[in-house]
Amino acid sequence: MKNHILLTPGPTPVPESIRTLMAEPIIHHRTPQYQRIFESATKKLQTVFMTKQPVYTITGSGTSAMEAAIVNFHCAGDEILVVDGGKFGERFTELAHAFGLKPTVLKVTWSEAVKPADVEAALRANPNLKSVCCQLTETSTAVLHDIRALAKIVSGTHALLIVDAISGLGADRLETDAWGVDLVVSGSQKALMLPPGLAFISVSEKAKQRMASSTLPKYYLDLKLYAKGLKDWDTPWTPALTIEIGLNRVLETIEAQGMEKVFSQCEALAKFTRSELEALGLKLYSKAPSNALTAAYVPDGIDGEKLAKILRDEKGVTVAGGQGPLKGKIIRIAHMGAITRTDLEAGFAVIKKTLQEMRQTCSAC
Ligand SMILES: *Cc1c(COP(=O)(O)O)cnc(C)c1O
Repeated sequence: MKNHILLTPGPTPVPESIRTLMAEPIIHHRTPQYQRIFESATKKLQTVFMTKQPVYTITGSGTSAMEAAIVNFHCAGDEILVVDGGKFGERFTELAHAFGLKPTVLKVTWSEAVKPADVEAALRANPNLKSVCCQLTETSTAVLHDIRALAKIVSGTHALLIVDAISGLGADRLETDAWGVDLVVSGSQKALMLPPGLAFISVSEKAKQRMASSTLPKYYLDLKLYAKGLKDWDTPWTPALTIEIGLNRVLETIEAQGMEKVFSQCEALAKFTRSELEALGLKLYSKAPSNALTAAYVPDGIDGEKLAKILRDEKGVTVAGGQGPLKGKIIRIAHMGAITRTDLEAGFAVIKKTLQEMRQTCSAC
């Protein structure tokens, strides 16, 4: 699969230099050698999270950090508000139910961003709400939510703002401290261009205070242990140290570029992707488009699932299809992390040709 072009919104391609680095002989994690790497990576994560607050690294997929955001900051019976505009919005509701919380679900039309006024009204209607959960980038719909506006509202209440930036962090702008976001969750396999296996969570001062009173059961994800470990650049359990070593190198390049450059590059690729898709006659799906990925309707009469399958199995290009009610109706193309304009150009050439071939055999087109 050496020349295969991977354009999915996670996992995303891992640069060759990082893969080579991660293939070096394994080291032990309770050593000064590893601790220096962990310290360096953790400090640089703060640059990407745009925070001075601690960022904890969990060995697990992104969802483990979502779970950490629930179990470390709540008690059974707590009421929370969940913004649900797609598959990943639904996940916070499922997590809340799993731990005996009472979620109020704010349903958002799938192609749209949440209206901040609706969040404000929900908080006013129920002063007991302990948290507001929202995605930065809802990966199932390629919608970007206005976290800055939500933070303005939530920071004036006692509720915490929990943001799932698993795909968005490092692609769509998120100014954790400046905007006042309490918990930001991310993962290694999207814009951070690493293999799956690491999850991250940043914790604000306000959230730290809430943490002390949380009574939900937790063990592996108990952030008190991660906080204690960080004092000596140690982790409570054996970390996915190979990926951590890759992370440190990825973050060196990101830090050298600076976040503004990262954001502007993603923005340029997003614009390019949107114009290419429209040039192919595909209608864009998201009304509040993200710079991490783009979703577009497949043309009438074309089965999106089939298109994605042909691209993957016969043409060497993997894109994502739609999830849930969007299955077969849209394709999703990532332009975050290590994905280049060259990758996208090659991908679009293949998509164009494949659509032409499919149309020839489609009577309804
Ligand atoms: C990918 C993704 C997740 C899930 O992450 P896993 O690593 O599969 O656990 C959650 N939320 C968003 C927005 C995502 O893009």
